[in-house]
Amino acid sequence: ALITTLIIFWILAIAIAYLLSRSSMKPIILSWRKQRDFSANAAHELRTPLTVIQNQLEYLLTKPKSRVMDEIDEVSTALDEVRHMQTLTNRLLMLARSDSNVVQMNKTDVNLQEWLTQVTKPYQDIAMSQQKSFQSTIKAEAHGSLDPDLIRQLLTILMDNAIKYTPEHGTVSIKATLAHENLLLEVADTGAGIPDEDKKKVFDRFYRTDKSRNSKTGGNGLGLAIAQWIVGQHRGKISVRDNHPNGAVFVVSLPV
Ligand code: ADP
Repeated sequence: ALITTLIIFWILAIAIAYLLSRSSMKPIILSWRKQRDFSANAAHELRTPLTVIQNQLEYLLTKPKSRVMDEIDEVSTALDEVRHMQTLTNRLLMLARSDSNVVQMNKTDVNLQEWLTQVTKPYQDIAMSQQKSFQSTIKAEAHGSLDPDLIRQLLTILMDNAIKYTPEHGTVSIKATLAHENLLLEVADTGAGIPDEDKKKVFDRFYRTDKSRNSKTGGNGLGLAIAQWIVGQHRGKISVRDNHPNGAVFVVSLPV
């Protein structure tokens, strides 16, 4: 009976190994791996700002009570890290919810010209406060159906990046046009641009180009993964190309 049991186990082990190696199982294995990498990356990203906050607070604790408020720089660094963690956790939550398909799409009919003008307006002030110029060309005189919350998030991600990755005195621009029932959005900047070998990878979770990883622009590599998901939910397309003479142009096409 023992030998029979062993043989059955052996056959079962071979069958499982065979199934796991078959191509139909590969997506499942890959998604396990992706999930594991996702959790590991998320934990790593959260640990860095937490360590900074811990250090700042521990340092403050060494000060006499009456002097704590003199250490305003420490408090403001800790607050920056808290804000960074807030963006990070919001983005992680959004991706986790997208993975489990619990985000409800709320498509609404909007006046594209008015809505886009209103949504993109704040970027004039944001760009100006960082000594960058902002140009907006919106030619979308039609009504269209989209999820305003999600598309606002998409524009926030693209515009924030364009501003973040453009040096002072650079120019950030947004162009919206209509072509064959599609809304075409182009967010351009005059920063360092994205090397060809990274153009597809920047949409992967946690991916950052070498240049931005080495620079001080804080980021976590989740924005464009969310942008791609939002565009996918609208059955649209997103890609990036070079701006001339330098910079990047993110192009989104949405059937509206
Ligand atoms: P992050 O929070 O790091 O900006 P994203 O997912 O939004 O995350 O972007 C991924 C990476 O793509 C960035 O880290 C950066 O390397 C690159 N990237 C995104 N937008 C731009 C841009 N406008 N110009 C240059 N590089 C960019």
